Amino acid sequence: MRYIFAAAIFLFTRPSSAEPATPRNLVIIAVDGLRADHLGLYGYARATSPKLDARAKSAVVFDRAISQASWTLPSFTTLFTSVDPIDHGVNTSHVTLGPGLRLLAEVLKDAGFKNAGFVGGHFLDPVFGFARGFDLYRADGEGNYRFLPQTAAQGADWIRGWKNGRHFLFIHGNDVHPPFDLTSQGAKVRHLFDADYRGPVDDTLIDYQFVAEYNKVPAESQGLTPPPDYVRRVDEIRADPRSVRHISAHYDAQIRHVDDTLPQVFDALARTGHDADTIVVLLADHGLEMGEKGRLATAFHLTQYQSVVHVPLIFWVPGLTPRRVSRPVELLDVAPTVLDFLGLPAQASYQGRSLAGLARGQSEPPRLAFSSSSLIGDTRRDPPMFSVQDERWKLIYDSITRSRRLYDLAADPQENVDVSGGHPKQLARLTQALADHIRRQVP
Ligand SMILES: [Zn+2]
Ligand SMILES: [Zn+2]
Repeated sequence: MRYIFAAAIFLFTRPSSAEPATPRNLVIIAVDGLRADHLGLYGYARATSPKLDARAKSAVVFDRAISQASWTLPSFTTLFTSVDPIDHGVNTSHVTLGPGLRLLAEVLKDAGFKNAGFVGGHFLDPVFGFARGFDLYRADGEGNYRFLPQTAAQGADWIRGWKNGRHFLFIHGNDVHPPFDLTSQGAKVRHLFDADYRGPVDDTLIDYQFVAEYNKVPAESQGLTPPPDYVRRVDEIRADPRSVRHISAHYDAQIRHVDDTLPQVFDALARTGHDADTIVVLLADHGLEMGEKGRLATAFHLTQYQSVVHVPLIFWVPGLTPRRVSRPVELLDVAPTVLDFLGLPAQASYQGRSLAGLARGQSEPPRLAFSSSSLIGDTRRDPPMFSVQDERWKLIYDSITRSRRLYDLAADPQENVDVSGGHPKQLARLTQALADHIRRQVP
């Protein structure tokens, strides 16, 4: 009995001294447009991410992380403010982040952090407000795309210069985002997958004009006037499943290129010893459609399918036991989570909840995950399309057509069969949850 008692005292007192210190630094890596299901660690068949797959074995991986918006600007606004698109209102490219929205970098700066961002430009340009709170923010101008070979290298350099104090590093790249311009990497990278293909995709730039035409978005609404021979070419690709699959092969080849690029960030942390006191988060702001339902990419059309809203979310936290978490969670939760791990209080304005408990394997009540879809050039303030999902069921609501669709994600992960007729209880439950969320009636 005495021995057991002594052992109990030992077990009881030991963890406080063995508990790893609160991490000091934070690195967030965002791969713009990277859908979760095209990574090996999320079950993809192609070897798009062997290095990340291996590294994820020491991480907490969220298997169902949902982005709150279908495209870049509203999604990153939510990520960095923990405010839903319905409330932050940054849902079209005419809107920038108002001073009332407090960004994660601003919170960390006030807590004494030194902050640097090396980003892929475009919607993360300072003109939209994302540079607020950063001591150093490199974007190279709106409309200029930058890629991870450059931004990750700049981030790794910055890590090597860390001295005393605490640091927040944000790395972002447009590598897997349209335009799929693979010419800089050459044919070897470009044709890593589906090398046998011979066809029109290889002579066509998959850019915004292509995406708009592919999705039959009225050209004038995007300020584009494609010539008739271009329309014919896009139609030809669109009608040929082989060519559509090849677009996806290019996307996958770019993911593999990203996989080869990211280790330099982890290596810089390891060589400086900062792997022991730094949280690393890898995520995406949204995915992209790759021909599913006859559509490509996102942002020029309203979409709430998993291909777009299901994103990777991976946390490396020193001392945390690796784990997979199946619960639906939201990008809204990332800011409160990292502050929690860094030992800092959440902001009163935060709508997300810390995922630290789930990451530690604690049981929590089930969560619902919401998302919304708006259009880049729209004039409406509120997104017109929404979704809500739990572990099994998903409701999509289109407020323009006033239509609802219910999917059983367990039986039908591709979201092909609307089962709203056969499951009135699930339909009513999720409809009510969505109506409460958007504070509007859902017919
Ligand atoms: Zn994006
Ligand atoms: Zn090709």
